Order: sequence, then C-alpha cells, then structure tokens
Amino acid sequence: MTGKGFTPSKCPVCGGEKFEVNTWPCEVCLNSAKTETVKLLDMLMRDFGFSEKDIRVFFSGHRGYHVHVESEAIRTLDAIARKEIVDYVTGLGLDVFFYGLTKRSLRETPSSQASPLSKLGWRKRVALGMQNFILNAKEEDLKKTGLKKNVIKTILSNKDIILKNLNKGIWGAVRGIGFETWRKIAQHSAKLQSAKIDTVVTTDIHRLIRLTDTLHGKTGLKKVEFPVSTIEDFDPFKRAVVFKTGAVTVLVSDAPEFRLGDEVFGPYKKQKVELPTAAAMLLVCKGRAEVTE
Ligand SMILES: [Zn+2]
Repeated sequence: MTGKGFTPSKCPVCGGEKFEVNTWPCEVCLNSAKTETVKLLDMLMRDFGFSEKDIRVFFSGHRGYHVHVESEAIRTLDAIARKEIVDYVTGLGLDVFFYGLTKRSLRETPSSQASPLSKLGWRKRVALGMQNFILNAKEEDLKKTGLKKNVIKTILSNKDIILKNLNKGIWGAVRGIGFETWRKIAQHSAKLQSAKIDTVVTTDIHRLIRLTDTLHGKTGLKKVEFPVSTIEDFDPFKRAVVFKTGAVTVLVSDAPEFRLGDEVFGPYKKQKVELPTAAAMLLVCKGRAEVTE
C-alpha cells in the first residue's frame, strides 16, 4: 500500500482547500483524503511497526478519515511526542542528507549494501518516490520542481541510465545532473510521499472524537469503521449512508452534482425536487436546501 496519488492544494471540482470546514463532501477531495490515509497507514505499519490489529480506520462521516492507533505503548505520549510523529509523517524537516545525498556521494560508487531501496523509513520512501517520479515524469512535472530547461532535457533523454543507477544508490552517473538537481527531485518526491494529516487533531490530547456509527451533523452520513486492508475499495458514499428508505421534497438553493450509493443527483439551482431521504438530508445538513411541501 503505497500512495502514488497527488493531492492538489485546491480541489478543481469543489474549490475546497485542504482541511477547510463547511465545504462540500466532494468525491475528488475524499479520494485525496483516502490517498493520504493510505500513505499514513503504510508508515504506521512499516516505519513505526504497528500491526493491523493496533490500527482502526474510519470514514468520519464528513470530509475525511480517522485513524486510531490503540496500543498500550503509545498511551502516555503527550502533545510534544505526538508532534514528533506528525513531523515524521508529514516529512517536516527532512534534509537530503538523510537520503544519502551529499556532494561527496555524487563522486562515489557505493557498495551494493548501500542501495537506498534496502533501507527503511524515509530513506526508502524517498528512493522509491524518486524512482516513481523520474519513471513517470513528463516535461511539465519536472518544470514544477523548479529545474532548468537543459537539465530537464538531460533527464528525459537519460531516464533509463538514471533509474538503473539510482537503484544502486549511484547519484553521479549522468553528467549535467548535479547536487542541486537531485536535491530538488528528492524534495519534490518526499513531498509526494508524505501524508498530509491534520496536525491539530493529532497532537491535541483533550479532543473528543466522534463515536462509530453516529450521525455527522453536517451530512447526515455516519462515521463508519472498515478493515484497514479494504481501504482501496472503500466507498464512503455507499457505506456511510444511513437513511435508505423514503423520499423528501426539498427546495434546493444551490448544490453541485453529487453521488450517493449508485445514484447521481444535481446539480441544482433554486429548484424544488423530490429526493431519496439520504440525499435530501445531506442537502439540508449542508444548508443547501429546506424541506418543503
Ligand atoms: Zn473537492
């Protein structure tokens, strides 16, 4: 389970920004949240060594996922210790030095044991991330990392050699790809590998968390638990639906197109519609509709 997705800072569909409240529970945003959750779960298990039975994962009923780690070993962690974990997960303060990238390493041929893919933690994550990135990178992806035109050209025309050497932990195989270039690629790859979690919720030890199977007041959907191993196929718009019978007539002020279960509704603008109860409930909870005759 390694997330390869990319989380945009602003959703192209609903216009919502990360961790923004009072927005639409949009399918695109929820998919991004899932991608981040997959990365987090992978780190908790591979890097921190928790087992699947220490971890519970939930859809919150609104715009994200909750991950609970229930282990005796971490019960006493205070806010500062939790912040350390947040920093690790979000990749805060990572330096390229930690990936084995130094100016000296560009001139050296490492022993076979030094392959970055044999390492653990961020060293391995960034190595895998860089391979993935270079393998799939198009000109515009490389531009986003801030690389110059001629360097981009060199990378694109030497992909095979670069990847082969990167596998062995050799940085200096291609002339024209120096320390600064690698630093930019490594930092960009680290960003893609990091999990964007909610720092405030994670570090706050006084926070109450919604109980499983209770309704979320902003959607009428429920918080629902599912097995860690099934996250890829988990569909919040199916599994979190509670009111499955009946219909309600509502006057909708404004709503984007949305899906509940297998049905797609909207978009609506200032109109009276009869909707299945769950769909009407979502619109009313979101302040987008009122029940009418
Ligand atoms: Zn969105």
